[in-house]
Amino acid sequence: MKYKNLRLVSDGFGLSDHKLSMSPKTNSRSVIRIGYGWDSHEFKSGVPLKLGGIEIGHPKGLGGHSDGDALLHAITDALLGAIAAPDIGTLFSPSDPQWKGADSALFLAEALRRVNSAGYNLANVDSTLILAQPKIGPHVHAMRESLSKLLTIDGESIGIKAKTPEGIGTEGAAIAHAVVLLEKSSRTPRRFRKPNYKP
Ligand code: MG
Repeated sequence: MKYKNLRLVSDGFGLSDHKLSMSPKTNSRSVIRIGYGWDSHEFKSGVPLKLGGIEIGHPKGLGGHSDGDALLHAITDALLGAIAAPDIGTLFSPSDPQWKGADSALFLAEALRRVNSAGYNLANVDSTLILAQPKIGPHVHAMRESLSKLLTIDGESIGIKAKTPEGIGTEGAAIAHAVVLLEKSSRTPRRFRKPNYKP
């Protein structure tokens, strides 16, 4: 195998052999996992602005193959990254016509499904939006409610921050960063586990 040497670099999660095969293998000893994702989309006229699963009144929306919801895309990638699953672009290819104009909540739901099937629950999310306009503050409450429903966690576990892109020249785009923390869904104390051998 071309990348056989990667086996020498143990990441402690049993992922080294699988990171290139796109087949996540989680380690039962990992009680928590962290994931990170980011995304950006360019503002464009004639489309609604969607962020965090809500529509925000604004003269321009975000272009993209799907609905351009950069925040949902960043959280989706963070969830997928936490279990070393294929990323959003691999699972939902921008060249695949079936995802044209798709509601990004679908991508998020699939990422969450994979997280749960890997044996993890989402503990909390933190995110930062970077965009010049519109102001996000007035929409944070609705955005948090939307994410709370989509992610099935309390709003108190969802951080949404927003900044303007001063000095980095990205005024024409919306950028989103997200981190997630996963917890193992069943925490059987080690002393109560059945012995791992056959007599
Ligand atoms: Mg995207």
